[in-house]
Amino acid sequence: MKISKFAKYLILFVLVLFSAISLHQPIFVRAQEPPRVEITQPEPSPIAPESIFMSQLPSWARLVDIRKVNPNIRLDIRYATTNNFLKRKLYTVAKCALRASVAQKLALVQTDLEKIGLGLKVYDCYRPFSVTKQMWQAWPDPRYVANPARGSRHNRGAAIDLTLVDRTGKELEMPTPYDDFTKKAHADYQGGSAQSRKNRQVLKDAMKKQGFIGITTEWWHFDSEDWQKFAILNVSLSEIP
Ligand SMILES: [Zn+2]
Repeated sequence: MKISKFAKYLILFVLVLFSAISLHQPIFVRAQEPPRVEITQPEPSPIAPESIFMSQLPSWARLVDIRKVNPNIRLDIRYATTNNFLKRKLYTVAKCALRASVAQKLALVQTDLEKIGLGLKVYDCYRPFSVTKQMWQAWPDPRYVANPARGSRHNRGAAIDLTLVDRTGKELEMPTPYDDFTKKAHADYQGGSAQSRKNRQVLKDAMKKQGFIGITTEWWHFDSEDWQKFAILNVSLSEIP
């Protein structure tokens, strides 16, 4: 069988092409594969460069451990346990980190409350941005979990979830437990016991006095009134001194 010169070149070309693809494609594909994104939303990029340059921030804007500012504030960091609405451990360490200026204000709330035989117990403070993404993946409802596209004020180190305790550390009665996503958790809920509504008001007044603002849907959540000064961070809790 006689093969034309053109056909020979064509066969040769195809062979070269195939061997080039089979040799290089797997490596090429692996190198170009995008990192796996855990959320269905377009990947946001609101993270500030402070994530990397925390030590270059002014001291008042750095994340600090609340224990080093006021060790009397009690901790029950729920996302470091399985006792949370996702029934999953999301933090590697049980730590309440806040921007230093916010932590100072919270320490003053504790001092004020001690004068009337009460104190604070915090459930959540600074939350790494990566954890907000995990929460959104598990529970993509903006009424209860911050959409990563905007981030949470917890990601800024300027929000706290907390409750009141007595001198022995026992929690005071509140309208609902923490992370109850019903109307009973709303700041203006008028049901439940009169004592629970009174306690909620004591917490709100004490927080307001030192510059914290509540939100309408969660009696336990407060933002520092200057939260907008602070960018979203993705520093791991274990990295915060
Ligand atoms: Zn909160």
